[in-house]
Amino acid sequence: MKYETVIGLEVHVELAAKSKLFCSCTTKFGGEPNTHCCPVCTGMPGTLPVFNRKVLEYAVKAGLALNCDITRDFRFDRKNYFYPDLPKAYQVSQLYAPVAVNGHTEIKGADGNAKVIHIHEMHMEEDAGKIIHSPDGKTAFLDYNRCGVPLLEIVTEPDFRNAEEVNAFLYRLRSVFKYLGISDCRMEEGSMRADVNLSVRPEGCEELGTRTEMKNINSFRAIERAIAYESARQIKIVENGGRILQETLRWDNVAGYSFSMRSKEEAKDYRYFPEPDLPAFHLTREEIRLCRAAIPEFADEKAERLMQEISLSADDARVITEYRNLAELFEDTVKLCNAPGEVRFWFTGGLLSYINETGTDPEDITLLPENFAKFAGLVLNKTLTRESGKKVFRAMLESDGDFDIRGFIKENGLETLDDEDLIITTVKKIIEENPKPYDQYRNGETKVYGFFAGKVMKELKGRADPSSVNRMLKNILENES
Ligand SMILES: [Zn+2]
Repeated sequence: MKYETVIGLEVHVELAAKSKLFCSCTTKFGGEPNTHCCPVCTGMPGTLPVFNRKVLEYAVKAGLALNCDITRDFRFDRKNYFYPDLPKAYQVSQLYAPVAVNGHTEIKGADGNAKVIHIHEMHMEEDAGKIIHSPDGKTAFLDYNRCGVPLLEIVTEPDFRNAEEVNAFLYRLRSVFKYLGISDCRMEEGSMRADVNLSVRPEGCEELGTRTEMKNINSFRAIERAIAYESARQIKIVENGGRILQETLRWDNVAGYSFSMRSKEEAKDYRYFPEPDLPAFHLTREEIRLCRAAIPEFADEKAERLMQEISLSADDARVITEYRNLAELFEDTVKLCNAPGEVRFWFTGGLLSYINETGTDPEDITLLPENFAKFAGLVLNKTLTRESGKKVFRAMLESDGDFDIRGFIKENGLETLDDEDLIITTVKKIIEENPKPYDQYRNGETKVYGFFAGKVMKELKGRADPSSVNRMLKNILENES
């Protein structure tokens, strides 16, 4: 019998608000243990939470971006459970009136076709701290810096059928949230982590099987492995006539298997009740309108449009639109100089290689579209060759945005040579120095042409216009003896 895997996700994303959900402590990652906390986020008696409305703005934007209905009258609920890294022994979350519900977004499925993933709800909640175990395993240390950091939990419907779809959705989520500027979604720092709910059923069967939940998986690769492992484990049990237990599992990515943490709890186990220390909140139409107005065109849609408007290849469109600031730099530059081909050349070959080589954070790129456009224009009108352009482009990237292109070209003697006599003399000199390849060329071995062209360009330090060099080199090679 063939089985189908059914997967739903609960994704936790740390929101990039500067202060915590209910106090003014910083949300900065890391820091000396227990230096980013106060009586409020450690739940001391007599303290009261104050809601950070920046978090609300981020949550509403996220909800709108994923086509959710925004709950205008929402509140928080108290979820009771004890954990050593949760000193209050309860988490403030949203159960009865989450901030956004009934959304959807589109991904590309494994077969390349579009697939709609439905969002059940999104709710705001606070994060817990961290337990750090000593290497000998005898002592546990508690760091409360992360207590109260604002989280957005995105709960999907069980719409996924394989790991590719899950990862496509997580990439989409990451891209959308980064474009919105509401989270950096760094899986390796835990600012985005996914719980995977998985069940199996015979293909064609409508009813859902019993599901297990794998907690806090924090890399795309780990998600793939965990899904493959858990799906195979469940199918084996069902095929042998066994029953799947509803339980919570922890995926061990090093060992490559999951193990049981506890039998799965239900909402009622947490004794949720409306949070008594916080009032009910109301969102005005105007607040929602302002959030909607700030929603940008996202990477996937931008890439699709650029492919149509200026015939970018799918690969180029994808890398150009990955970061919002760089995508805007690209588009603004093209608008200014109307030379998409030249801009693309320097964007992928110059800018992106510079980022890779130097490990620069793409968000720190200060190149101005005005300078980029002026530069592309100088290459197009042959004031600069592409060869000497490389030096100029690099210097432009290394400057802090304020860069005098013409001054730099002058200072470094990089203008294109338009001295025909010098090119001719150089061609003749190179031929004279290399009689053997010259004979080969004259005897029909035209592949040595590249050798001469390279030598001439090098001798002229990359400053000669390649088309002039080609014209004169061909002429001399073929007509003079
Ligand atoms: Zn605090």
